[in-house]
Amino acid sequence: QAVVVAIDGPSGSGKSTVSKAVAKRLDWQLLDTGSVYRALTWYSLQRGVDLDDKDAVIATVPGFLEAWSLSLSPDERWVRVGDTDVTDRIRETEISAVVSKVAGIPEVRDAVNQRFREILVGTDADGIVAEGRDITTVVAPDAPVRILLTADEDVRIARRLAEKSGEDAARVAATVTERDKKDSRVTNFTAAADGVVVLDSTDLGLEATIQAALDLISA
Ligand code: C5P
Repeated sequence: QAVVVAIDGPSGSGKSTVSKAVAKRLDWQLLDTGSVYRALTWYSLQRGVDLDDKDAVIATVPGFLEAWSLSLSPDERWVRVGDTDVTDRIRETEISAVVSKVAGIPEVRDAVNQRFREILVGTDADGIVAEGRDITTVVAPDAPVRILLTADEDVRIARRLAEKSGEDAARVAATVTERDKKDSRVTNFTAAADGVVVLDSTDLGLEATIQAALDLISA
C-alpha cells in the first residue's frame, strides 16, 4: 500500500508546485484533485449544461467519470476527457471562475471523492501526494502525513499574477478572492483539522517550502 501524503490549501498557496516537486523528488505519484473538478466543469459546459442547474450537473458525472483520465506522474501532466486533451484549457479563467459551482454540489463531491479513494488505494507506487481542498479532512483523513499549505492573501494573489502574466491584474485578484470565498463554504481549507500540520509559505521561498514538506514526510 502506498504512503499517502495529503496536502490542502487555497489557490496560490504553492500547493500544486510544492506537491509536484515533492512527488518528483521521492519518485512518487501525484494526484491533482482540482484538475478533476476543472475537467468536469469543462465537460458540463461542453455539453451545454447550465451550471446553476444542480441536477443537470449531477447527471453529467457518470459519463465524465467514464471518459476522464489523468496522469499520475509528476513529470508528465495531462488530463483527458475521452480523446480530448484538456490540460491547458481547464486552467483558463473561464473555468476557474465557475468551477466552484460544480465543486459545491455534494452529490458531485461524493462521486468524485469515491474515485479519488480508489486511486489512492489502487496505486502500485511507493507513495502518492494528493492535493486539493479536502484531502486532509474527507478524502484521506487517515493519511500518515497531512499538510495545510497556507500563505497570506496578498502573497497568493501575487503568485497567481506571476503565473498569469498578461492578464488583467484586478481580474486575477478578484478571481482568486472570489473562488476562495466560494470554496471555503464547501471545503474547510482555511483552518487545519486535528492532526493536520500548517505550513505557512508567506515568508518562505519555494525551495524552503518544499524542504519543509519533505521534512514532515521523513519525520
Ligand atoms: O486546485 P485548483 O485551484 O485547481 O482547484 C480547482 C477548484 O476545484 C477549486 O477552486 C475548488 O472549487 C475545487 N476543488 C475542490 N476540492 C478539491 C480540489 C479542488 O472543491 N479537493
